[in-house]
Amino acid sequence: MHNKTIAELAQGLADGEFSSVELTQHFLQRIDELDSQYNSFITVTHEQALAEAKAADEIRAAGNAGKLTGIPMAHKDIFCTNGVLTTCGSKMLSNFTAPYDATVISNFKKAGMVSLGKTNMDEFAMGSSNETSYYGPSKNPWDLNAVPGGSSGGSAAAVAARLAPAATGTDTGGSIRQPAAFCGITGLKPTYGRVSRWGMIAYASSLDQGGPMARTAEDCALLLNEMAGFDPKDSTSLKKAVPDYTADLSKPLNGLRIGLPKEYFGEGLSAEMGETIMAAVKEFEKLGATVQEISLPNTMLAIPAYYVIAPAEASSNLSRYDGVRFGHRCEEPVNLEDLYKRSRGEGFGKEVQRRILVGTYALSEGYYDAYYRKAQRIRRLIQQDFLNAFNEVDLIMGPTAPTPAFDLGSNTEDPVQMYMEDVYTLAVNLAGLPGISVPAGLINNRPVGLQILAGHFQEAQLLNAAHQFQSATSWHQLAPGAGQ
Ligand code: GLN
Repeated sequence: MHNKTIAELAQGLADGEFSSVELTQHFLQRIDELDSQYNSFITVTHEQALAEAKAADEIRAAGNAGKLTGIPMAHKDIFCTNGVLTTCGSKMLSNFTAPYDATVISNFKKAGMVSLGKTNMDEFAMGSSNETSYYGPSKNPWDLNAVPGGSSGGSAAAVAARLAPAATGTDTGGSIRQPAAFCGITGLKPTYGRVSRWGMIAYASSLDQGGPMARTAEDCALLLNEMAGFDPKDSTSLKKAVPDYTADLSKPLNGLRIGLPKEYFGEGLSAEMGETIMAAVKEFEKLGATVQEISLPNTMLAIPAYYVIAPAEASSNLSRYDGVRFGHRCEEPVNLEDLYKRSRGEGFGKEVQRRILVGTYALSEGYYDAYYRKAQRIRRLIQQDFLNAFNEVDLIMGPTAPTPAFDLGSNTEDPVQMYMEDVYTLAVNLAGLPGISVPAGLINNRPVGLQILAGHFQEAQLLNAAHQFQSATSWHQLAPGAGQ
């Protein structure tokens, strides 16, 4: 059962091949047996999952089942879940039980889906390897010495290891696409404003966006149908009708114009990575697409701009964790300042502290113009690069990350080296665009992701291209061997 996609599981449930309770039990058992090696879950909600599965079976028996009723999935521990521990991978929130559901969570509940639990992540979603988690790193199921990527590394590892058919992720600068690439699964970052951020713990509010992580583009389309839409509780969610993202999956790709940014294939990309990506692009040509070189001249400025803007927003968002209202509080504070200092000093890990410091510095008087304002100007230039490119082409393709999954511990000493990992993903968030990573090959038995980008709100086109690629190739069907 665990090798089936969501589309196949939905069919199995509809045909009465198995019940949601049986399906849910199967995945819970796999988590119990296997997750000690992957550390992909922070919390497993056995009882709640079985109760939700039972309710889903009853809804089905009464003839009221929707497409996804009774399908289990996991949620990144950044989404608030009513009555369930919600840690955001941090000691700061290690005692925080959310008193409400994020909109994304309640949307999935309304669809009758079952939650298996909460997945591991970099602390407050800051990281590219899952190694900043207070709960220890998650491991890559393809190779237990490799990172699963980050920050949604637990979600990616859980789906790749077949511990859950799908999971939610969030992407501020690549955190859905890069772990999807490292773990050989499919991950979609929607357009900014497409999916409600309400109840999703904020990292950098102008960049954060939730999205689906699953094995196929078709499954991502099924999940996005439930996730997307206007939410009056999120003032940046857009009042725009949600199409049926499965409707155009099989549309032919004849005449599709693909752009390859020369900046994505230059320095820093290994020959092997370049060849793997070009082989994937060839598949699209076989499917009727045309390919041309384009230029995104400000690509290299995305890293410095992002690593000013994201920490600046984070420093403001994380000021609410002060030990007073909720979260970690130090023992026996002598006065208010001591309470703030020690609660934050003890509750936040090193990387989070570094970003708060950088962000506060960049926003402080005297440095605001030099750093923050300049970064916002670069952001505008990057957006303009993409808008110009989408006048010439329909989709942009390139590698999701410059390398396949790297070894655990290999990038932890040098934060700048770690930030370089995000070179192909950050600009997309700065421009608010949608992007998807699809499995496109293996290098030394570690997966490679092809990143596909489209214009704002063109998720259907992205999913169509990704689905057609997956109909012609089998990379997405490969399962990791490690530890199974
Ligand atoms: N790796 C990037 C960072 O550390 C992106 C993280 C994310 O998308 N949440 O900020």
